[in-house]
Amino acid sequence: GNRTFTMIKPDAVEAGNTGAILDQITASGFRIVAMKMTQMTKADAENFYAIHKERPFFGELVEFMTRGPIVAAILEKDNAVEDFRTLIGATNPEDAAEGTIRKKYATSVGENAVHGSDSDENAEIEGAFHFAGREMF
Ligand code: ATP
Repeated sequence: GNRTFTMIKPDAVEAGNTGAILDQITASGFRIVAMKMTQMTKADAENFYAIHKERPFFGELVEFMTRGPIVAAILEKDNAVEDFRTLIGATNPEDAAEGTIRKKYATSVGENAVHGSDSDENAEIEGAFHFAGREMF
């Protein structure tokens, strides 16, 4: 697959790190094929993260993801899903490799700056959740 979906999460947008994160993404060979700033509603976040609804942190996750604007984007590159997850680093910034986006910008396992799809199938679903066909290039 050659596309993945990402969100720059509310913590990173609030901290003013949007530009630096997008710069690192494009410098790493990803082409932006869709992008917008938007704020998820509670229903949006509950649907987007439905797979986590039984997890103890679900309420906190929905609260966090809806507290301010995010930047959603679809990215294109060979091997996009895997290469993007390498670029962002481990879910918990304490475990993230040096130089990764989460190592640099995440503050905790919950407030971890960015999302990256975990499969080609989810990249497609998540991209379609946020963008209409005419918004993808
Ligand atoms: P993402 O799906 O955002 O790319 P991920 O695949 O690295 O993250 P998941 O295990 O799918 O991680 O968790 C989804 C999101 O839920 C995490 O990115 C984080 O914001 C939040 N989360 C995960 N584990 C915890 C936790 N223990 N406490 C609080 N929030 C958590």
